[in-house]
Amino acid sequence: MPTYEYECRSCNARFERSHGMTESPVSECPSCGAEVRKVFHTPGMVVKGNGGGSCAAGRDTAGQPCCMGGSCGMFQPD
Ligand SMILES: [Zn+2]
Repeated sequence: MPTYEYECRSCNARFERSHGMTESPVSECPSCGAEVRKVFHTPGMVVKGNGGGSCAAGRDTAGQPCCMGGSCGMFQPD
């Protein structure tokens, strides 16, 4: 069963609920009763490189080409 994260539009409280796709989503903040919105976790473009680390836009967090030659297809030489 997937877990969804919600954020209150009023008090910004965040909470998680597990429910199936067919069940109705949470619509009210448990603290203040205001309307909540679903928080979608959308990871950016992340490609696994040969080095085993994650590869965002062909470079790792240190700015180095993470896949040693662009095998991940993302690395663009300067
Ligand atoms: Zn609230």
